[in-house]
Amino acid sequence: MRTTTCRLFIAAALAAAGVAGAAMGRPDPHSGPACLYAVTAGPGARDLSVEVTLRAGLGAELAVDRGLGAFIRDPEVDDGGGWRALERQDDHLRAPPCRSRPCRIRYRFALAEAARDVHDRNRAIEQEGAFLAPPSSWLVRPLEGGQSRFRLEVQAPPGTVFVTGLLPSRGGPASAYEATLDDLEEAPYSGFGPFETARIDVPGGVVDVAIAPGERDLPTRALTAWAERAGRAVAGYYGRYPMPRVLVLILPTGRRPIGFGTTLGNGGASIMIWVGRSATEADLERDWVLTHEMVHTAFPNMPRQQRWLEEGIATYVEPIARARAGTLSAEEVWRGLVEGLPKGLSRPGDPGLDRSRTWGSTYWGGALFCFMADLQIRERTGNRRSLDDALRGINAAGGSIAVRWPLRRALDAGDRATGTHVLRDLYGKMGEAPMPVDLDGWWRRLGIVADGREIRFDERAPLAGLRRSITARPVSARAAGGGR
Ligand SMILES: [Zn+2]
Repeated sequence: MRTTTCRLFIAAALAAAGVAGAAMGRPDPHSGPACLYAVTAGPGARDLSVEVTLRAGLGAELAVDRGLGAFIRDPEVDDGGGWRALERQDDHLRAPPCRSRPCRIRYRFALAEAARDVHDRNRAIEQEGAFLAPPSSWLVRPLEGGQSRFRLEVQAPPGTVFVTGLLPSRGGPASAYEATLDDLEEAPYSGFGPFETARIDVPGGVVDVAIAPGERDLPTRALTAWAERAGRAVAGYYGRYPMPRVLVLILPTGRRPIGFGTTLGNGGASIMIWVGRSATEADLERDWVLTHEMVHTAFPNMPRQQRWLEEGIATYVEPIARARAGTLSAEEVWRGLVEGLPKGLSRPGDPGLDRSRTWGSTYWGGALFCFMADLQIRERTGNRRSLDDALRGINAAGGSIAVRWPLRRALDAGDRATGTHVLRDLYGKMGEAPMPVDLDGWWRRLGIVADGREIRFDERAPLAGLRRSITARPVSARAAGGGR
C-alpha cells in the first residue's frame, strides 16, 4: 500500500505542478483536481446532465469517444460572462477563450439513445434497463489534460445505482472518484441502472459486484461466492489482492454458461463478464474466466506490441492461483499446460512475440514466456524465488491495470524482486525473434508424464520438487485443511 500511496501522491503533485504552474507561474502541490465533473442522472438514467469545471487552459478542446458526440445535447460554456451556446463538431467541443481562463461547460448526454444506437460493449450498451458505458463515452475530456487529475461526482435518482471501476477520490466526498485525464480516455467500465450490488472483502482489497438485470436461475449468493473464490485465489497468488478495489459487472445474458470476460483499468479496475441463463453453480465452480480477468488487474497496461505479456501472465497464473486456492488439482494445471503451451511454440521464420498477432502467440506464446521465466528464476535461485516474486514486485512497485507502463519498466521491477535478469534476458530472446523451446525435455525433467489426457507425476525426475512447488498450496492454507 505504501508504494501505491507514494505513486498517487507523486502523480497528483506533478499534475498540480503542471497545471498550476501554467496558470499562476508556480506549482501548488496542495491544489485539487484540475477538472471537476458533476453528473446528475435523470429518471432511469436515460439522460445525464453533465457540468464540467475546468482550470484555465483545459477547456479549449474537449472530446468524447468516437461516434458519441451525436448524443451530446445543448452544450453551453461559461467563461466568466454567463452561459452561452457552444458548437459541437463531431465528437469535439471547442471553446478557445477557455485557453486563457477557467471555464464551465454543461450539456445533456442522451445515454439511452447512445446505448441503443451504438450498441458496443466498449462504448455503450443496454442490458434490460441498465446502461453500461465507460466515462469516456459520456464525459467530454480535455485533450491537453495529460497527468492532470479529474474528479467525478455522480447523483442518481432513487432506484438507479451508479457503478464504476474508477478508484474513489482520496479526500473527496464519499461518492467521488478520481484519476488522471489521460486515464479518462480508457477509464474503467461503468454503469447506471437497477444493479444488485454486493461488496466482498478479500485479503488486501474489496471486490464490488454489480449484477445487471436479466434472466437468471442462479441466486445472487452463488454469483457473489464465485467472485469471492476468484478474488481469494488471486489474492493468494499475489499475497494480497493486487488492487484496493475491483468492480465486477455481471451481465446475465447469452447462451454460454460463462461467456466473454473483459477487463479495463486506467484509473481503477473493472471487469465485465456475461453469465448465461443456463449457468449452474457447477459451471461457476469450474470457471476460469473470472480468475483470468482478475489476474489482469495485477499488471500494468502494456503498449499494443506487448499485449502478449498481459495475456500470457493471465493464462499462466490463473490455473496456478486456482490450484493453490484448492479449487483445481495439480494434474489439471499440468494437463492445461501440456495441451496449451505447444500452441505458443514458434516455428522457424516466425516473428518474435512483439510482432506476432495470432491468438496462439498472444495467449500461449505469452504463457510460454511466463513458464520459462518461472523455471529459470527457480533454477537460478535454488527455488527460493519464482515468477510469483517477480509479479508481486511489479505490483508492489505500483504496476497494476490502473496504470500504463512501458515493458522495460515492468521487466526491471520484476527482475529487481528476484535479484536476477531472467525477465530482461528472456525478453531479449523471445520478444524480437523466435526462440526454440524443448517442451518434451522440460516435461521429462519436471516429471510430468502425459498418457492421453491423463497426467501422472514422476517423483524421481530431477526437477520434481520444483514442479511441486509451482502448484503447492501455502502452508497456512494446508494447515487450515481448507482454503476456499
Ligand atoms: Zn485476458
